[in-house]
Amino acid sequence: MSFKRTLVTAALPYANGPVHIGHLAGCYLPADIYVRYLRSAGKDVKFICGSDEHGVPITIKAKNEGISPQQVVDKYHKIMGDAFKEFGISFDIYSRTSSKTHHQTASDIFKKLYDKGVFTEQVTDQYYDEEAKQFLADRYIVGTCPKCGNENAYGDQCEKCGTSLSPTELINPHSMLSGSKPVLKQTKNWFLPLDKLSPKIKAYIEQHKDWKPNVYGQCKSWLDSGDGLQPRAMTRDLDWGVPVPIKGAEGKVLYVWFDAPIGYISATKDLIPNEWEKYWKDKESRLIHFIGKDNIVFHCIIFPAVLMEHGEFILPDNVPANEFLNLEGDKISTSRNWAVWLHEYLLEFKDKQDVLRYTLCANAPETKDNDFTWKDFQAKNNNELVAILGNFVNRTLVLTHKYYEGHVPDALEYSKEDLLILEEITKAPDKIAASLEQFRFREALGELMNLARIGNKYLADTEPWKLIKTDEKRVKTIMNISLQITCNLAILCEPFLPFTSNKLLAILNINPIKWNGAKQTTNMHPGHKINKEELLFSKVEDAEIEAQVKKLHDSKEANKAKLPSPEGEGLGVRSPQKPEITFDDFGKMDIRIGTVLEAEKVKGADKLLKLKIDTGIDVRIVVSGIALYYTPEEMLNKQVSILVNLAPRKIKGIESQGMILMAENNKGELSLVSPVKPDVNNGSVVK
Ligand SMILES: [Zn+2]
Repeated sequence: MSFKRTLVTAALPYANGPVHIGHLAGCYLPADIYVRYLRSAGKDVKFICGSDEHGVPITIKAKNEGISPQQVVDKYHKIMGDAFKEFGISFDIYSRTSSKTHHQTASDIFKKLYDKGVFTEQVTDQYYDEEAKQFLADRYIVGTCPKCGNENAYGDQCEKCGTSLSPTELINPHSMLSGSKPVLKQTKNWFLPLDKLSPKIKAYIEQHKDWKPNVYGQCKSWLDSGDGLQPRAMTRDLDWGVPVPIKGAEGKVLYVWFDAPIGYISATKDLIPNEWEKYWKDKESRLIHFIGKDNIVFHCIIFPAVLMEHGEFILPDNVPANEFLNLEGDKISTSRNWAVWLHEYLLEFKDKQDVLRYTLCANAPETKDNDFTWKDFQAKNNNELVAILGNFVNRTLVLTHKYYEGHVPDALEYSKEDLLILEEITKAPDKIAASLEQFRFREALGELMNLARIGNKYLADTEPWKLIKTDEKRVKTIMNISLQITCNLAILCEPFLPFTSNKLLAILNINPIKWNGAKQTTNMHPGHKINKEELLFSKVEDAEIEAQVKKLHDSKEANKAKLPSPEGEGLGVRSPQKPEITFDDFGKMDIRIGTVLEAEKVKGADKLLKLKIDTGIDVRIVVSGIALYYTPEEMLNKQVSILVNLAPRKIKGIESQGMILMAENNKGELSLVSPVKPDVNNGSVVK
């Protein structure tokens, strides 16, 4: 089937942190290459993206930083938008889901499905923070993992042992907001009955056996798994997002994965208010979503189900999702700062956008996870961009100036060898296009570089710099052909290396030519004057690479001590500060330095030690939960900090008269808090 127009979307990046190379390789770069190719081929295409600004992680980040969610998204919307632009990602619009258009659009679509009776209502028990007066998303609840005992497990997952959890499984759950123990409370939400819709979804997926095997396979495995698809809540108890537009849903917002893909529709409306429907509702339009593999379920199952039930929209025609890109052999992690950030790259490698574009495309994780290393980045630049493409182009330009003062010479007589080269040139655009149309970007880039290799080899074989002394006529033909190849490279490299393409077109002193123009071998007319040559690429030195690798390892070290973050892929942040107290509040606590006189294990409790302590004011018994970290022997004669005026309480039948102060690290391990200098007497006041 042929299409009149194409709408290409790239996953809406989440507005709680900047963009890294994993995001670029996963979807933004392939999407941009594809769109640039379609534009060059003269197709009607629109390229849509924007920031995804709703959801729980943004509200957590806002709380941790003491700013509003709107301030969080304003900050990252700008950082991301600027970085994309500077990297040459050529969105027709970079919109955002906190916009008015989006709220209205998402609201309308929800309302339509609601009015059609698509949703089912379900009342469920959910944890509620009575102090903060709000329902708690899974990530807002921390407790002890029932599997491994990690005390910092989240309501959806223990990051220590990897078990996925539901909040009610946590032992001793507490709220990230107030620290209080949450209570279960009933709440009503609206569910998309994916179980009931599953036959329709299945029929849709099965029409798309042409999808990439990783995408089609993942969809099939969900549909065919034992339990099949399950209903999923499309509303949440949260105060940040698109308010649920129905009565009785006050204080609730649309589920972020209900509203985010609708962001593509809203953005199209903002871009072309009078024409957007053509792209979304006309059967002759084609919708393509570029995403990373973690978003497949939302784009191949949930969003199509929403569109189907709505009834007016076309469905995604293809979802060419990529796998993940790793970095130096390790998973990219923003919380460990194991990433190459785009905005930093752009500062540190000025005017080298195309080098990163080239490396990421050449290593794109198209069929399996792949690795980015700085060594490989250097090798790709020095051995391919500089040594093949750059070298061929530079030789051609230099010789043209040297022999003909920059004028294109006439091709006088083609040899057999020349005719073979000319044939290769004319075939190149279709070869590259065929790969691009199947979303095989690495293969397409390989075909482009083959054309540069052909040129390089042609010059090396014919050696015009030697021939010029004996056969000027022949050299004219060789240089004419080399200039034709150079020109066609400028056209064909544009989707991959747009900055290089622009630079080369300027040197060649010609206007951009459409894709099929590269099938011609006469674009550079005899007599045409080219501009002074300039190097397209420069070498990346060892020192630059070493600096990058060192930077990565340094930041990894610096981040080691940080807690895993409830924002998932956000910065590591410790539990929030408790509410403010006065100095008088603090003054009520009587903390002294004491020395442990005796220590023994408490029977039937592996975590507890019974300590006899000289507090300087008396000798008393304290029961302390440090037995997993200190043996009784280690505790003997240790100086400790002790809260002496804490009301006594019985622990395992022993009256504990005070509390030993301890520091707890991110693994839940305890350490005594002791004076640093040796001459602090028992009874000294900690203040
Ligand atoms: Zn665990």
